Amino acid sequence: MQLVLKNINKTYKKGAKKALDGFSVTFNKGIYALLGPNGSGKSTLMNIITGIIPKDSGNIEFYENDEPKSYANSIGFLPQNQDYYNNFTALDFILYMMVLKKYNPEDKKAYANKILNSVNLINEKDKKIGAFSGGMKQRLGIAQALIGEPKIIIFDEPTAGLDPKERVRFRNVLAGISENKIIIISTHIVSDVSVIAKEAVLLSKGKVLKTGTQKELCKEMQGKVWRVKCDYPTAMLFMTKYKVSSIVEEDGEYSLRLLSKEKPTENCENVPPVLEDLYLYEFGEEEGL
Ligand code: ADP
Ligand code: MG
Repeated sequence: MQLVLKNINKTYKKGAKKALDGFSVTFNKGIYALLGPNGSGKSTLMNIITGIIPKDSGNIEFYENDEPKSYANSIGFLPQNQDYYNNFTALDFILYMMVLKKYNPEDKKAYANKILNSVNLINEKDKKIGAFSGGMKQRLGIAQALIGEPKIIIFDEPTAGLDPKERVRFRNVLAGISENKIIIISTHIVSDVSVIAKEAVLLSKGKVLKTGTQKELCKEMQGKVWRVKCDYPTAMLFMTKYKVSSIVEEDGEYSLRLLSKEKPTENCENVPPVLEDLYLYEFGEEEGL
């Protein structure tokens, strides 16, 4: 199974800068993280793949067993700002979405229940959506994206506004549904996807900056991530001079994780890089960190 995007271009208004600028990536089975700061073109790309907005040029092809197929009926989508009818129950909503998607299993209620169960909402199925927490709404959004067993599932910033507990739950739900699918998740919160994503695509100003497995991407950061223990004034000094990806205080001693091409001071030791380090390295300034 492959989703092949070739040279996708998009400009919203004449004369405006390109929202997508020659975007080309091949997605295989598995979970992909689409990473980039606000305005980098993540939503534009997702809205083009799902057919919500037209592209200016470029090709999108879908292959199953090396044969070209139409994917229009096998795509699930959770948009960035999904709205809900507050008076609907979770079950009403899923049944309603099944109608919209023209998905007609023999036992509609049993199917809706199965879908709700897969996102841990089965005990809330008769509650009104208006009473749902952000995390519950988000899981309901995931549930509707699963209707009809789509081969491709796209989530646009699914973890925005979730509390830490809900983030963990989101990761667990995704890990449970990811088999035999292409799943693309956009976010600018790398830690939400770094555990589950096989590969990452770094998007900058509508262009692919980097793409690869986490291992491949982290390799480039080898030797550039440092840990240092120091006192408060030194920690503050490091913060102004380097990109610091984490800072932990324990009994007045500060432990910093920072990025630098060269060894900053003698007492700095190299640590293995993670995807967050690469993101900070590439986008630190743009994100205002
Ligand atoms: P992201 O999802 O990564 O934050 P977007 O795809 O929303 O990025 O935006 C990419 C670029 O396209 C930005 O410069 C944004 O201002 C512009 N853009 C997005 N949607 C529209 C629109 N409907 N009309 C005009 N410009 C838009
Ligand atoms: Mg967006």
